[in-house]
This record gives sequence, C-alpha cells and structure tokens, in this order.
Amino acid sequence: MTLKSDWSATGFGTRAIHGGQEPDPTTGAIMTPIFQTSTYVQESPGVFKGYEYSRTSNPTRVALEGNIASIEGGKFARAFASGSAATSAVLACLNPGDHVICGDDVYGGSFRLMDKVYKRLGLEFSFVDQTDLKAMRSALQPNTKLCWIETPTNPTLKVVDIEAICSLCREAGVASVVDNTFATPYLQSPLKLGATMVAHSTTKYLGGHSDVIGGAIVTDDEEWIEAIQFILNSMGGNPGPQDCFLTMRGIKTLHVRMDRHCDNAERCSEFLVNHPMVKKTIYPGLPTHPQYEIAKRQMQRFGGMISFHINGGLDAARRFLESVEVFSLAESLGGVESLIEHPAIMTHASVPAEARQALGIHDDFIRLSVGIESADDLIADLAQALDKAKG
Ligand SMILES: *Cc1c(COP(=O)(O)O)cnc(C)c1O
Repeated sequence: MTLKSDWSATGFGTRAIHGGQEPDPTTGAIMTPIFQTSTYVQESPGVFKGYEYSRTSNPTRVALEGNIASIEGGKFARAFASGSAATSAVLACLNPGDHVICGDDVYGGSFRLMDKVYKRLGLEFSFVDQTDLKAMRSALQPNTKLCWIETPTNPTLKVVDIEAICSLCREAGVASVVDNTFATPYLQSPLKLGATMVAHSTTKYLGGHSDVIGGAIVTDDEEWIEAIQFILNSMGGNPGPQDCFLTMRGIKTLHVRMDRHCDNAERCSEFLVNHPMVKKTIYPGLPTHPQYEIAKRQMQRFGGMISFHINGGLDAARRFLESVEVFSLAESLGGVESLIEHPAIMTHASVPAEARQALGIHDDFIRLSVGIESADDLIADLAQALDKAKG
C-alpha cells in the first residue's frame, strides 16, 4: 500500500494539504480548478460523468468535502453555503414533534435558528447546561432525536465532555452533533469521541482568512449522510465553487495557523490573568478553568478564543474596545487577524437578556479571537487599551 492510496493513514498536515484532492487529470494543475459551471453535458440521456447539476454536486465542492472528511477523520462530508445552512440541514432531517437537546450557550445564530424557525415548524427544544451531566440526563425524553453540542461554547468557553454526552446519547438512541468550529479538527476529534456528526462553520478557522462564508457536516453514518445530501439538494444550501476553493486553500495551513493561534492565546491569557483591570479571564488552557481537566483530555491544545470580564462595567468595556489598535472591533472569529467584540451588544444580541444574564454575558464581558500576529504586539495593544479603559 502506498501513502497516496490511503491518506487517512497520514498525519494531520498531510491530510490538510492532500486529503480529497488530486492533481487535475486533464492538465495536471496542482490546485483543484474552480469548476464555475451550473450544468454538465451528457453523452446520452442519463449518461454522464458523475455530475448533472451543480446544486446536487460540483467537482470543486467534492474536493472540499473529501478534504474536510479527511481532516475530521470521517467517511463522508457535505459542504454548505454557511455554517448556519449546515446546522439547518441537520434540523431539517427531523420531523414535527421530535425533541432536540441543545447546549444553553451555543452560537447565537444556532439558537435563533432553533428557537425562531424550527420551533415554529414543530420541533421541540430543551436548552441545557451540558457541563452538567445530570441536567443532560433528565432532559432526555421519549421523543428526543438529536443532541446539539458545542464545545468550547460561545462566548463563555465552557468545555463539554463530548465522550460522556455522546455515550449517554448512544444509550438513549439519540444522534449527537458536535459543532467543532471553535476547536477545529486539529485540536479535537468528536467522531473518535463518539459523536454521530460534526458540524462546522468553515467561515472561521478552517477558511481562516476572513474572506469566505461556509459550513460543513461530517459523519461516518450512511443514513445520516444520505439524509443530509437529500436536504442539501432539495433546499439548496450549496456553496459556490469559488467559495469551496478558498476554503480548501485555507485548510492547507490550518495546522500551522492553529499552533500559532494557541501560542498567542496562551500568552494573551497569561497577560490578562495578571492585569489589575481584568476581573476574570476565561480560557480552557488556564488551570483555573472549571473544566480544565476535560479540556486537557479531549483537546490537543486550547484554541485561540479568550473571554474576560473587565473592571468598570460597560463604560470601561466601551473605552477598551474603542482603544485597541492591532485587534479589530468586529464580529466573527478564527481569521489570521485578531478580533475583539462585545457579545451582549454584538454577537449575542439575539439571545434573550435573561438568558444572557444567567450565562454571565454581562456588559463587562469581552471576547477575543486571538490572531497570528506577533504576540508581543498583541500584548502591547491589550496593555495600552486596558490603560485607556481606566478612564
Ligand atoms: C459562526 C458560527 C456558526 C455559524 O456559521 P456561519 O458560517 O456564520 O453561518 C455556527 N457555529 C459556530 C460555533 C460559529 O462560530
């Protein structure tokens, strides 16, 4: 057997660069071409080369899907126009009356999709603190069909024990999905920990350059991938070929970028922990993090996301956010550039105020997506902005 015949036996970096991709057979082009086509010529009615129409399938998309499956260590993947379209496709596989258990601190858009769209269409939801296994167990109902897990959570960076929850789900005959956007397959492998499916917003670390929106679902389960492909083809959440190309280009450096994201986040978290203007720093890599032991067990490293509470409330938070120079004040995360934001006003405005309070997303709460600039500059920037935040 050659290395090439089975990339799944190779290391992460090799799969990130080669998985799912072959040099173009007609030209030898090393990069998968952007197949900017809607349809494909047939030799005779129903006789074609594997592609009929680009909503159903497209060669650039197939290369991306093979690549994402390869880095997640899964058999099958489907790419979507956004992470939200991928989330929606999983929910659209369910029937009215089905019950879904979801974490209480998931991406604001995932919560909105469940609470405002799929609830109206007849699905039932329970939002529970998935760090509490007892709460998880008592949320199970006879009609529970799916459990949606996100870890580390957004924005409070709780770490959920994937293996424990997925085994609970398996015993109850409930499918489990892990949104692996924050950790990425480089740091965390949910399928190996027992998840039925992995969901991604490839907009974030996988794409990695803040230039494309996309999503994906990965699974080893044939029935689920068939259902997902049916929804993708029926509802049309397919990504365009150029977006697939950009995402694939991004994934080729995922492992290198993630190591630097982790290095820089470790440095920034140590700086914040010791700063008098910072009330509390939340980073899964800090021994003070409530689920530090779980994070150490299920993650290779601790990622690029940090949250913290600033002393001085909303006024200080505002001054701080207006003063950063290397960090950019913007929603989203996972790109090479460092971003900073205020969840209560920005990304999590769609979460009801009461729920935000319960989760600790107060007005003094700030989220960082630590990029891969020079760490000294990031720390100097945080230092000068915290100084201005004093007022
Ligand atoms: C951004 C994000 C999503 C939604 O993805 P889009 O590509 O913006 O639709 C879902 N889950 C998580 C954890 C995210 O950060």
